[in-house]
Amino acid sequence: MTYNELIYRQGWTLEQKIDHSVGVVSAFLEKTDRKAYISYSGGKDSGVMLDIIRRFVDNAIPEVFSNTGNEYPEVVKFVRETDNVIVIHPEIHIKQLIEKYGFPLISKEQSQYIRQAKHTNSEKLRNIRLNGSINGIGKIAERWKFLINAPFDVSEKCCYFLKKKPFAKFQKQTGLFPIIGTMAGESRLRLQKWLQHGCNLFDMDKTASYPLSIWTESDIWAYIHRFNLPYSPIYDLGLRRTGCMFCSFGCHIKGDRRFYFLKEYKPKIYEHFMQMTNNGITYKEALRFCGIDFPDGMNKQIRIDF
Ligand code: SF4
Repeated sequence: MTYNELIYRQGWTLEQKIDHSVGVVSAFLEKTDRKAYISYSGGKDSGVMLDIIRRFVDNAIPEVFSNTGNEYPEVVKFVRETDNVIVIHPEIHIKQLIEKYGFPLISKEQSQYIRQAKHTNSEKLRNIRLNGSINGIGKIAERWKFLINAPFDVSEKCCYFLKKKPFAKFQKQTGLFPIIGTMAGESRLRLQKWLQHGCNLFDMDKTASYPLSIWTESDIWAYIHRFNLPYSPIYDLGLRRTGCMFCSFGCHIKGDRRFYFLKEYKPKIYEHFMQMTNNGITYKEALRFCGIDFPDGMNKQIRIDF
């Protein structure tokens, strides 16, 4: 696939995109002999995907939700009100993960690079994370390099333990492959994946379908309004994304208000998450160290010294 193809397809009408998604899922079901499940988060994107599959493809594909314990209560309630959801759970609590591996900061990619630069025994990998590979990719962005020397660890590992691992276990137990409602335009990693594999990936344990890859956020809302789909009330309070309440991936981007939202609507939960620690440093202190704009931050891009 090419980037231009993505842009071209993103310009399709809603009807064309629905047809495309139906085709993607149908092809996936045929190739996997219908051994598939819907990865359901309770958010608007996976809700649209669930509806497309139920309405146009197959009403019997099971939907699975991983309750990490960190979702908005409104989202969990919404999931419980959805028919036939299988709920799975991670084996470890977020507090233990943060203590052991570090805080998820900036982005999945940058967290991984910072963790590796700080802890790898491989000089080669460390050099790539600091300076990039031959074609210049794979390195920590200049503005975040100071995090290698932070008095706390940065890590993307919670995503593996809270989300990937429970689903991998479910897949192993059932032999089913996931249908996932992510969009290629959401992040660089998702774009790269789509450019490499398109909407369906058939590769042993990585086998998965991504029928909404070419959709945009406005398509999601257009579909919700077209079919009068129910969605979690959390969006009407102004939240753009669901998922873990305290996740700080992307919270450095100008205008991001998630922590203001959390403090206003869930002050107890906000304080609970802000007190999580790694290496004796609280989440609140780590966010300040990064210069993040949040209710207890410095409200300017400076770092504090410990
Ligand atoms: S969404 Fe964020 S906080 Fe939640 S598991 Fe993934 S990285 Fe961790």
